[in-house]
Amino acid sequence: MLRHLLLAAAGSDRLGRLAGSAPVSKGAVRKFVGGFDGDEALLTGRALADDGLAITFDHLSAETRSAEQAVAVRDEYRALLAKLKGAGLTPAAEVSVKLSLLGQRLDEKLAYEHAQAVCAAAAAAGTTVTLDAEDHTLTDSTLEILTELRRDHPGTGAALQAYLRRTEGDCRELAAAGSRVRLCKGAYAEPESVAFQSALDIDKSFVRCLNILMSGEGYPMVATHDPRLIAIAEDRARWFDRSADEYEFQMLHGVRVEEQARLAAGGNVVRVYLPYGEQWYGYLLRRLAESPRNVRALVGR
Ligand SMILES: Cc1cc2nc3c(=O)[nH]c(=O)nc-3n(C[C@H](O)[C@H](O)[C@H](O)COP(=O)(O)OP(=O)(O)OC[C@H]3O[C@@H](n4cnc5c(N)ncnc54)[C@H](O)[C@@H]3O)c2cc1C
Repeated sequence: MLRHLLLAAAGSDRLGRLAGSAPVSKGAVRKFVGGFDGDEALLTGRALADDGLAITFDHLSAETRSAEQAVAVRDEYRALLAKLKGAGLTPAAEVSVKLSLLGQRLDEKLAYEHAQAVCAAAAAAGTTVTLDAEDHTLTDSTLEILTELRRDHPGTGAALQAYLRRTEGDCRELAAAGSRVRLCKGAYAEPESVAFQSALDIDKSFVRCLNILMSGEGYPMVATHDPRLIAIAEDRARWFDRSADEYEFQMLHGVRVEEQARLAAGGNVVRVYLPYGEQWYGYLLRRLAESPRNVRALVGR
């Protein structure tokens, strides 16, 4: 119930505007958000890189409702990528992009063109782009745009959500040579018709998808904080004889930091998802909806 309330509030522009002007402790927000602008995020990213972690930067912005907003998001990513290169953070740092913010709901072709420009900027900076997975109404379009982007930029990654019933099939399609696939549980409130609802069913789907990706030809990116799933991923990597540079773990900034350090110390590639920007409110609520431990971390208990 609380999770659904938090997820509903996360999608509310009005509450987001209120939160933006509220005297919320910036220190508390920074536990999960890498900074309020690109320069602050760069400093956070530098500290993570110094700790031996890879990074994927994610710019938090309000829902895109106009072509001008989509252009602004594209330009933010292009500027960020130039800064990452200038700071010597690439190729350890890449970027995560939501196609909806590039205008996907207004005009798919426009979103594709903007994504193509971001991928070109990433290539010029010596790094890659991963497309975030959003709600299920965008999955087909996102995977179609992915296919187009990969013609010029084969390193472009995609996120797949284990809670979607379709995802095993998508894993089979995407487990091809060179294909970077981030497997996560999924963060949106989805109907039963398209998504598993129970934690057990989602975990079982995650393991089936993991088996497909780990036994395939691509590059699996295992995005979870779940200790059982991490242990299973470590086991599958051994079973399928993958060396440390043939898969990676991914976790969110501020979540299970000791586990991130443990995995990295064990020789694994660990990539931290580092969101930044003024529009942190919806992102933060989604994290709070996920785990009471995140709530305790936020209030410092
Ligand atoms: C790098 C990354 C990228 C992502 N990209 C996307 C995306 O593109 N699209 C999308 O829909 N979703 C994305 N997500 C979010 C994801 O779908 C889940 O909503 C989120 O990761 C929570 O799921 P979980 O696998 O961590 O397990 P959960 O079910 O949240 O937690 C499982 C277990 O993990 C442990 N755990 C979890 N949180 C904590 C904590 N704070 N402290 C200690 N232990 C904890 C606990 O033991 C818990 O029981 C991404 C997640 C990551 C890590």
